[in-house]
Amino acid sequence: MVDWLVYYPRHQVLVCRVHGHAISNLASHLADKHKDINVKSRNTIVTEYSSLQLSRPPNTDFSHGPGNPIPAIDGLAIQKGFACGKCGFVTTSWKKLRVHHRERKHAWVLSKRDPLHWSEVKLQTFFTVPGNAVHYFCVIVPGSGAEDGHVADGRGRSQGQLINDIKE
Ligand SMILES: [Zn+2]
Ligand SMILES: [Zn+2]
Repeated sequence: MVDWLVYYPRHQVLVCRVHGHAISNLASHLADKHKDINVKSRNTIVTEYSSLQLSRPPNTDFSHGPGNPIPAIDGLAIQKGFACGKCGFVTTSWKKLRVHHRERKHAWVLSKRDPLHWSEVKLQTFFTVPGNAVHYFCVIVPGSGAEDGHVADGRGRSQGQLINDIKE
């Protein structure tokens, strides 16, 4: 067992703290992204975790918009994003908010300097691929105010349940 992998039994999700997202195939994730670990150790890790059920939680389990954020989930990267104040749409990209604003034909004027109808939010997602299926949800980062400068690296700590705990 390693401390940089966190398993959430309720959602059957295994999160890599190093990369900040959930893993759908541990063997290939280790082979692709953790080449610094030798093959023997990688195989050991894969064997140790092989009994875990992995799935993709339905987006409806994480429909958290700007109005009902959840505490940041330990291990997942925290990203800065934008929320539409009209319909709760969230995105990490200002450009996508602009596209959304146009497509939904929102009547209000979208101005980056003037956050009247949109707000800045902190977002997390379990899976970063495939791009068109990425589902972001709004989170609260404990003591964020001071950490605003480096959100991309932020990792919530309070929610963690180490795999060691659940194996007992
Ligand atoms: Zn990783
Ligand atoms: Zn909208």
